[in-house]
Amino acid sequence: MVQIPLQQPAQVAPSLTALEQFVCPQCGGLVSVPRRVDRFSCSWCGSLLDPGSGLRFYRRAEQVRITREQAAERFRAWLASPELPRHAESEAAFSVGELRLFPFLRLKGRGADRFLPMAELPTADVLDLTAVPAALEETDADEGAGANPGEGAGADPGGGEAPAGNGGGPPRGAIEASPDLLAKALHEAAGQGSSEAILEHRGFYPVSYTYRDDTFTAIVDVSGGRVWAGRRPALLRSQRETPVSLGVAALLMLEALLIPGLWPAAIAILLTVVVLFVALRPWLRHG
Ligand SMILES: [Zn+2]
Repeated sequence: MVQIPLQQPAQVAPSLTALEQFVCPQCGGLVSVPRRVDRFSCSWCGSLLDPGSGLRFYRRAEQVRITREQAAERFRAWLASPELPRHAESEAAFSVGELRLFPFLRLKGRGADRFLPMAELPTADVLDLTAVPAALEETDADEGAGANPGEGAGADPGGGEAPAGNGGGPPRGAIEASPDLLAKALHEAAGQGSSEAILEHRGFYPVSYTYRDDTFTAIVDVSGGRVWAGRRPALLRSQRETPVSLGVAALLMLEALLIPGLWPAAIAILLTVVVLFVALRPWLRHG
């Protein structure tokens, strides 16, 4: 018989051990404090602080809503879209990589949020992730506080296990934030009047594909499954426009030769041009 526990310990523990993190405005150090503490001293420089005086620091990770298989479907559909050359879907060979999560530091202040990449960008497309409307969930503050002298970062019963996505450090596939970049950015943000700093891990599937002997990259986001690609195969319009232009020229010439009289010929040509322009425009656009 399999017995199902009525209450899982993981659902009870967080409220008791949860820590908040602050950036010390004096020294820029990251300080972990149990929730609802109203005064604490910086574990780095000893300054006496209260939650209102520091820059609040959170860690969040994007909820993954798109599977790798779905990402591949979305990418195939994108290849068939009018954004790409007509035969891209049949000619391009592509591979979708495993889920990755890239760390951005979101700084909230007076104006619009600012995003700073906290690791080396795998490809430039990854920067587009900051435009993705993402659902984020908080991840455990204990994780990554290794540089911290540790204030009651008590024993976590599930600490040894790989986290399933929430509550317990960076999720699977996460690219680690550079401690140096993070420390520097937090120090600057604390001095610039930001109110919140959030280390956000944003999810994507990396895609690489080849089309006509050229290699391209793209990403598929994990919230909406949208394809983001800065550099992509160009729509080779001239290849399609040349025969069309020649056909139109021939048609107009025939009209000029076959229709008797100057004015009837001129009017017929004018009408033909207008009709062709309207009829061909959408077709030409779709490459
Ligand atoms: Zn300090």
